[in-house]
Amino acid sequence: MPAEGTNIQKDLNPLANAERQFDEAAERLNLPQGIREVIKRPRRATIVSLPVVMDDGSVRVFTGYRVQHSIVRGPAKGGIRYHPDVSLDEVEALAAWMTWKCAVVNIPFGGGKGGIACDPDRLSKGELERLTRRYAADLSDLFGPESDVPAPDVNTNAQIMAWIVDTYSMHERRTEYAVVTGKPLEVGGSAGRREATGRGVLFCTREVCRHIGMPLAGARVAVQGFGNVGSVSADLMARSGAKIVAVADVSGAIHDPKGLDVTALLRYAADRRGVQGFPGSQPLKTPIIEYDCDILVPAALENQITHENADRVRARVIAEGANGPTTPEADKILAAKGAMVIPDILCNSGGVTVSYFEWVQNRMGLYWPEDEVNARLEQYMVQASKDVLAKAVEHGVSLRVAAFMVAIERVVKVIMLRGLYA
Ligand code: GLU
Repeated sequence: MPAEGTNIQKDLNPLANAERQFDEAAERLNLPQGIREVIKRPRRATIVSLPVVMDDGSVRVFTGYRVQHSIVRGPAKGGIRYHPDVSLDEVEALAAWMTWKCAVVNIPFGGGKGGIACDPDRLSKGELERLTRRYAADLSDLFGPESDVPAPDVNTNAQIMAWIVDTYSMHERRTEYAVVTGKPLEVGGSAGRREATGRGVLFCTREVCRHIGMPLAGARVAVQGFGNVGSVSADLMARSGAKIVAVADVSGAIHDPKGLDVTALLRYAADRRGVQGFPGSQPLKTPIIEYDCDILVPAALENQITHENADRVRARVIAEGANGPTTPEADKILAAKGAMVIPDILCNSGGVTVSYFEWVQNRMGLYWPEDEVNARLEQYMVQASKDVLAKAVEHGVSLRVAAFMVAIERVVKVIMLRGLYA
């Protein structure tokens, strides 16, 4: 059936998926077509060619992107990802999700995203630094504390943010920390930023579990991805009494129905660069998405739960640590099964929330202790979870549709107040 084939093909394009999610919520809000167009389209998309001298003296040209989806509620905000599959469509989708994410958690930012199509595992540290600096230099007109504030995302980290601060500051002839977030503590970073996304996943999951009457203590959790988001989510959920029964990363997948020792696994995975072979665990032969558990945390990349495997998901709660892990077709299948998806724009918004705190601290020049950062993060995440749950109950919609409705309403409100400049 060609019609269905087209749909399924489209189902794996993150931009088409982000637009479908937006349209469904916009429809429920009865938004006039004009306003819909205004907030759906990205404000600006930039593509740059980045020549880099490699260690062997050869020159390679990489492609970099930065999309500002919206600056209606504040500066464009969002990470930069380094991955071979980075494309304009993907960055555009991720930028739009950032707009909705910042609005759901109610921080004064718009949405943006950047990326470079590259395989960082195959670049030396020097090559990575030169590539990063070239990207930052080329885009330094866009970036700025008041205009566009990048952060880490897939395969980027605090060191890369430090190089961006330095490059931008050299161009500006003064040190400017607030131009990026997710920096090392010594370079204007915030306490608690590294753990913030995982901590936010914990807070949201706890709120949703409370709502459906499923105790987090004792719940069996499977985690896909053991990077910054997956590993911290697993650790904090285990500390809250949940049982981490399966973990997968690029090295392989492991499980132990009795529960893995997450503290030991963190150490093991750091030493061995992966979870595979963790003593006492068994290798997992079936896909982790289909693992028998109560809570599934997809914390890797987009399109992991699709029309092909959604029916085999056994978890009751899916906590989206990654951006875009569930396709719209899969969403329908999960809803029909009664599974509760905590959507990415709510579930992983803890990272950008502490990025906001980092930006505030940079601008004040006053730094908060980690307890204070975590307490503020909890307030924002609990409030956002409550707003989304209330919307879902009021309109009888999924948490994803509810989160989009909350976010779109907040953006539209500001557009209406500011008006359109003609
Ligand atoms: N890359 C993270 C995200 O997707 C964090 C973005 C930020 O802190 O600006 O939410």
